[in-house]
Amino acid sequence: MQYHPVRSGYMKACRLTEGLLRQHGITRRPVAIERIIANYGIEIVERPLKLAPALFDRLTKTIYIRPMSEQRRRFYLGHELGHYILPPDYHELSCNTFSACLLMPHEWILADLRRASLTVLADWYKVTLPVLRIRLQQIGLKSRVKVPF
Ligand SMILES: [Zn+2]
Repeated sequence: MQYHPVRSGYMKACRLTEGLLRQHGITRRPVAIERIIANYGIEIVERPLKLAPALFDRLTKTIYIRPMSEQRRRFYLGHELGHYILPPDYHELSCNTFSACLLMPHEWILADLRRASLTVLADWYKVTLPVLRIRLQQIGLKSRVKVPF
């Protein structure tokens, strides 16, 4: 069988998040991402960054992040936490996957999808609609409601 780095990275990044949620006692949405980050002793500092929306400083264990909406902030915080948790050779995309899986666990989304529209789901999970749609595509689900990107 052929080795597929992206898919393999996806599986690992996603599997990691399941254990992480258990480890931090997170059992409901919206996932308390800032609490998880605080549990690792990582500080979050809001700052008007020029080069990126957010970045992780490994030396000082600090996530610097631009001021932004809570929904976007949560996704970027998840991404930067990915840089801390995932092995350093992981691709940037894996950090996005890590964040999406952490904020929107597979089983939860599956259960919730039956009882709510995408707009409501995005509200429940406190994520942006584009991020929610990407997550549904990852899981292999087509959304019932069409929302423009
Ligand atoms: Zn990154």
